[in-house]
Amino acid sequence: MKYFFCVVLICSAFFLQAQQVFKQTISISELEQDTCIVTEHPFTSLVVYDSHNLNVSEITLIVDDELFVPNIDHHITSDKVWSEQLFLQSQSYSVCISSGIPQSFSIDALFAPEIDSSISYSFLKSQDCEKPPYISQDIWRSGLPEPNYTRIFTETHNIIIHHSAGSNTDTNYTTTIRNIYIYHTQSHGWSDIGYNYIIAQNGAIYAGRDPGTYPQDLVQGAHFSGANTNTLGICMLGNYELAPVPQIAYDALVSLVSWKCAKDSLQPHITSPHPLNQHLPVIAGHSDGGPTLCPGAHLYELLPILRADVADNLVLCGHTITTDIEEVQAHTHCSHLCGNQLIVVYSIDGKKVFEGTFKKMPHSFLQAQLYVIVRVE
Ligand SMILES: [Zn+2]
Repeated sequence: MKYFFCVVLICSAFFLQAQQVFKQTISISELEQDTCIVTEHPFTSLVVYDSHNLNVSEITLIVDDELFVPNIDHHITSDKVWSEQLFLQSQSYSVCISSGIPQSFSIDALFAPEIDSSISYSFLKSQDCEKPPYISQDIWRSGLPEPNYTRIFTETHNIIIHHSAGSNTDTNYTTTIRNIYIYHTQSHGWSDIGYNYIIAQNGAIYAGRDPGTYPQDLVQGAHFSGANTNTLGICMLGNYELAPVPQIAYDALVSLVSWKCAKDSLQPHITSPHPLNQHLPVIAGHSDGGPTLCPGAHLYELLPILRADVADNLVLCGHTITTDIEEVQAHTHCSHLCGNQLIVVYSIDGKKVFEGTFKKMPHSFLQAQLYVIVRVE
């Protein structure tokens, strides 16, 4: 493929700390030829966006001979369409864009300089409902601009599980989280990273949104379609549409959610109404609140097991587990309109007991003392 260098306007570059540029915005107008852009400053991740109906998957980017075809991001904002963030293996100064895109769009070239990656963290599986250790912002955010805003705090009614939709093979977790932080704060203009906690594929738990002097789990995040009151957001690094969740990362999630449920007396098997879903499970996936693939099929299918494992831990810690069969039945009483939709039903101990269309589900499931989870595909 032949590339031509051309003059492209770099319309803004944000200098938030001396000598470091965290965002360079590149404006692209209708491309008639393949184009390479050399940036003045280095970048470590990219995101494509525009204010109108941009089909990001028609865009091909090449950085250091690696080809990227971005997917649309599940974080939808009211005024823009965003691609998923594209993470680079090392910093770069050049991005090439294939021609044939019949409209203008923008690219944010984001920079999160690497820090010493020898952060030690050893997750030990436990069933004691104790708070698992996590890597603080002071460590992973080192050298990046600190957030400065008035925090909002919220009581948790629903724990929302996300995936980052990022790489399943990248092991430079701290750098990935630094890039996500730069994306959320610089491109989206959010006050801070959106999630309360982030769990890497090696089981390392990172503190997310900076709570200042208050508890980490009570600061209100920005992760649940603009309806974050009474939620806590946990993001699992990786794309769980494409791959299963690593066992150690799942164990870390069980530990973190068990601690939170024990601390706040949250019941893992019931629902708690939320503006996005009147029957939102206390432990929910992002997709329980709206149309998104997040947290990915592999992680979503683990949620009944997660609830069962958390319930087991809570029992060991002396808590009593309740189920709200009426809530569950209301949730499963789909109208005849959804009779042909695919559902998956789980027993209270997390075992899959039925998969098929709603109208073929044995009626006894609705009557029995089962906890029934329905996934409408
Ligand atoms: Zn999500």
